[in-house]
Amino acid sequence: MGIYIMIILHLEGGFHIYFNWGIKQIIKLAESIAKNINEAILITDKETKIIYVNDAYCRITGYKKSDVLGKKTSQFKSGKHSKKFYTKMWEDINAKGTWKGEIWDINKSGKLYPKYLTINKIYLDKEINYIGIFEDLTERKKFEENIMKLKNYDTLTNLPNEKLFYEILDKRIHSKSEFFVVISFTIDKFTFINEKFGFDVGEKLILKISHIIEMFLKNEDILSRTGKNEYMLILNHTKNKKEVIQFLDNLFIEIKQNIIIDEQEIYLGLKAGIAIYTEGTKNIDILIKESNIAKEYAVNQGIDDYLFIDNRIKEMYIDEIELENLLRIALDKNEFFLTYQPKINFNTEKIFGIEALIRWKNSKLGYISPERFIHTAEKTGLIIQIGEWVLKEACKQLKIWHEKGFYNLSMAVNISPLQFKNSDIVNLIKNTLKEYNIDGKYLDIEITENLLIDRIDDIKRQLVEIKKMGVTISVDDFGTGFSSLAHLKNLPIDKLKIDRIFIKNYPEKDNGMMSKIIINMAHDLGFKVISEGVETKEQLEFLKKNGSDEVQGYYYSPPILESEFEEFYIKYTNDL
Ligand code: C2E
Ligand code: MG
Ligand code: MG
Repeated sequence: MGIYIMIILHLEGGFHIYFNWGIKQIIKLAESIAKNINEAILITDKETKIIYVNDAYCRITGYKKSDVLGKKTSQFKSGKHSKKFYTKMWEDINAKGTWKGEIWDINKSGKLYPKYLTINKIYLDKEINYIGIFEDLTERKKFEENIMKLKNYDTLTNLPNEKLFYEILDKRIHSKSEFFVVISFTIDKFTFINEKFGFDVGEKLILKISHIIEMFLKNEDILSRTGKNEYMLILNHTKNKKEVIQFLDNLFIEIKQNIIIDEQEIYLGLKAGIAIYTEGTKNIDILIKESNIAKEYAVNQGIDDYLFIDNRIKEMYIDEIELENLLRIALDKNEFFLTYQPKINFNTEKIFGIEALIRWKNSKLGYISPERFIHTAEKTGLIIQIGEWVLKEACKQLKIWHEKGFYNLSMAVNISPLQFKNSDIVNLIKNTLKEYNIDGKYLDIEITENLLIDRIDDIKRQLVEIKKMGVTISVDDFGTGFSSLAHLKNLPIDKLKIDRIFIKNYPEKDNGMMSKIIINMAHDLGFKVISEGVETKEQLEFLKKNGSDEVQGYYYSPPILESEFEEFYIKYTNDL
């Protein structure tokens, strides 16, 4: 009876026992609580022999009451804790009258389970008794483990995520200072793979790549998935740069084997950047940043599979950041202007058009060529605003020239793939033609072959819309990209612009065969042909003889300012 009262007093949680209750009521309440409570209750005498267990105890441990009553609690120890642990526990109970903590025990079927146990020492009729109350932590532990996994591991690959990787790297950097490297990987053109083969294949590819990398790892190496198509690796098992190179070479041989997912062969470009830990580097950010810079450089440069960070790459990167910052404000600061390069028709010998080519003069960096900054403008998305400015500026100038009497002159404008993919190019062209009151047939847009690789239906739809306005469409730098002539046939294209590489070495190192073939095939398929980059009379005559319809190049004129073009146009027309 006394035991039950003690249980009530023991249960924390604000029970108020009304003292006008009779002892029977109190006993009833205690019995009911002990029976229904989720926590197990176990009471022993002073020799720790069990004298009471409740139903929850039997449920959690699997023992029947008859299995345990009269036995000593030590018989049910898990063996997972040391003798010292129990000695300390009993010291606490005897000194402070209580002990609380997590403990592992073993249930009837021999399974270890964690529990949170409170033991109190109490005196009943001057006799010592011990009350143990515990709850099973198995479910809670599982829950906590899951939460921990979600927080620290990537759900697809089960690899440590970025957060955990940084923690591991931080520990690594502050522990032993032996040689190790950080490698940053990316699957190049992953978005394209995802779009072409589907999300499912994309996910399988991510898993596949992580398995391939793991094949080459040793225990102490840590691979992590740090982004959609990004992995980072702490390579601990190599002892010097030579071994790292060996590791990477072996890995890339394997990566370059055909990767087949769902019966589809996938060609992928894995790129890697490597930063070597040097003693004294106590900042993980440097290692991460430098491996990422080297990786990005490998992606942009497109030749090497992997690159070690070096001063040259670092400088380029710093330049790149500066360039990016200056480019962001160049439009507002009016630093861009256009130059115009005439295009001549072989039949009429007249200047029928011009190509607008952007120029950038910055007060700090001087002239920066489009070859250098267009890529950055595309990478940052700035090309959309810049491209819009070019189109408007070119049309404005064309209107001026039409009004000045340079009738029938058409204007070619280079349009970046990004303008098709990330902006409403159709409406921009429509509105600009309207704004400057120009007939669409006087505008020619130069697109690149690379535009015609993915999202082709969407691109075709836009090209058709543009074509409906009377605008002509030319494929610039033809022959250097991926498209085939047959593929172009299904698109509303008027003209191919043969890249300069097919004529620049004529006649010394090139017999012009490629230009000849391209011209013939293009004509067979109904495209007009313009040859760009023509510098000499010999090149000009060769192209004329072999059927190129139009020509553009330094032979006639480099890209020039508007006033220079006006002079050129008048003089050229008068000389005809
Ligand atoms: P592109 O459109 O193929 O332009 C032809 C490039 O070749 C121009 O270089 C031009 O100056 C150069 N060129 C013309 N004739 C000759 C020649 O006879 N010999 C040699 N060696 N070069 C010649 P530029 O102006 O530096 O432009 C480079 C590229 O930058 C352009 O190639 C085009 O892809 C891009 N670009 C220029 N302006 C724009 C623009 O407004 N928007 C976009 N998206 N790209 C542009
Ligand atoms: Mg062009
Ligand atoms: Mg070109």
